[in-house]
Amino acid sequence: MTMAHKLIEKETVKLGSIYQGSTTLICPRCGGEYLHQRTVRIFYREEDDEMTATTTVREGLSATHLRPSAEVGNPSVRRDGMAIAFFCEGCSDKYDERTHLELTVAQHKGVSMLGWRYFVEVPDESGVRPTTVVIQSKNRQNPLT
Ligand SMILES: [Zn+2]
Repeated sequence: MTMAHKLIEKETVKLGSIYQGSTTLICPRCGGEYLHQRTVRIFYREEDDEMTATTTVREGLSATHLRPSAEVGNPSVRRDGMAIAFFCEGCSDKYDERTHLELTVAQHKGVSMLGWRYFVEVPDESGVRPTTVVIQSKNRQNPLT
């Protein structure tokens, strides 16, 4: 059976235990508490603006780009937002960002709403079998001949 990825968006954030006086986050996918902060994205736009300034902070470096609002992944439907990516020791691959989770903050009608978004694997029911494409170059020599 082939597997596909389904995007899950949860509008609630569960908190975990108290650790050294602070509250921990709970992974919404596996329930684990060992989450590690990775990439942070900050989305800035005036209400319903067609363009959004997105600042990405990753591994100590930052970059800001102005892009169409529909394409940036802002968790806010109409205003500012923020997304903090985490990898979870229980269910993520540290080096595969597709397995990471995002804690989101969406500004909406004067309040800031927290949520999670992440992918889960589900059976692929499309009926489409994965194909392998082999590309051969005419100029490349076969090392076995
Ligand atoms: Zn997890």
